[in-house]
Amino acid sequence: MNPIFADLPTTVFEAMSRLARETGAVNLGQGFPDDPGPEDVRRKAAEAVVHGWNQYPPMMGLPELRAAVAAHYRHWQGLALDPETEVMVTSGATEALAGALLALIEPGDEVVLFEPMYDAYLPLVRRAGGVPRFVTLSPPAFRLTEEALARAFSAKTRAVLFNNPLNPTATIFQAEDLALLADFCRRFDAVAVCDEVWEHVVFDGARHQPVIGLPGMRERTVKIGSAGKIFNLTGWKVGFVCAAPAMMKVLAKAHQFLTFTTPPNLQAAVAYGLAKDDGYFECLRRDLARSRDRFTAGLRSLGFDVIPSQGTYFLNIDIAPLGDTDDAAFCHRLVVDHGVAAIPVSAFYANGAVRNVVRFCFAKRDATLDSALERLAGVVKRTA
Ligand code: PMP
Ligand code: GLN
Repeated sequence: MNPIFADLPTTVFEAMSRLARETGAVNLGQGFPDDPGPEDVRRKAAEAVVHGWNQYPPMMGLPELRAAVAAHYRHWQGLALDPETEVMVTSGATEALAGALLALIEPGDEVVLFEPMYDAYLPLVRRAGGVPRFVTLSPPAFRLTEEALARAFSAKTRAVLFNNPLNPTATIFQAEDLALLADFCRRFDAVAVCDEVWEHVVFDGARHQPVIGLPGMRERTVKIGSAGKIFNLTGWKVGFVCAAPAMMKVLAKAHQFLTFTTPPNLQAAVAYGLAKDDGYFECLRRDLARSRDRFTAGLRSLGFDVIPSQGTYFLNIDIAPLGDTDDAAFCHRLVVDHGVAAIPVSAFYANGAVRNVVRFCFAKRDATLDSALERLAGVVKRTA
């Protein structure tokens, strides 16, 4: 068996959700919202299942969805993408990432990764034959620096895998970070694979800036999005990939033998959803920011050290002030003894370099958050 997968533990999201189910814990681990997603979008999907086409859709995605993706990014991010040659639909961002890495990397190519990183990245890079080069980002700002990039990039760099807004830190890279990254990609002739699934989930007036829109990056960026995060429908697994035509041709070759297509009814509903008026997207952000604020205030009043969240469904706490230096053990205690599931952030590092940060998902109803806070009430006192 291939050791890359044989030696891998089950993903922490699955493991924590299972533990939460077994123990009846409030699950603030895996990132999924309580909100069932917009009813009109779900009705569109239902209608499309009953009355629409249920056979293979076109390999690149429904034309109406590809057009909707291009129109959506024109409106929200000022991008001019040709739906025919520059947009492809995938089964979630996960497939898009796997396909991009398989399509771009030749064995021995180096791939720059930023820690903390989404847990799928490293095994996918390795399985594609890539050699990881890590840049470790430092709290609390998690910014890029010229020195760190200079250490990671080399003549062998083929790609960088970049997530913005960043899960799990819940931070957004600044314009200067993006410009620096683009500069290195241009100088080292590297492709930026940009996981922008959290692009709409940004708070406090922030606007997402796509790397593909930066000077000189149009031909060397793979932009990846996901309907899951845009519509609070994480189980749908409808992703989009945007790239210049020459690169898209190769990305499509990988896609054709990974999943080939994505359920057409869900594609139709997402096409409808992407055209929703600005109010929907503003409301999504406002509601999530309110939950963030409620949970942040609750945790602080219990004595937790909350690291501010700028976007995503997540916020983090620093457990070092509690005298705790083992996030995995802390999370285990939290779920078993206190009935709240969270994610140890060490799972986002190749060798668990950071062990004092714990991630909570706040995309939940007030009652869920309040119930978690009640259960967390004794934690600070007991562990301090
Ligand atoms: N990338 C990041 C950074 C994520 O947070 C997630 C899911 N939370 C994904 C990729 C996977 O997205 P999808 O469910 O569309 O495959
Ligand atoms: N992306 C989600 C998170 O960060 C989980 C996705 C998954 O379970 N694979 O929690």
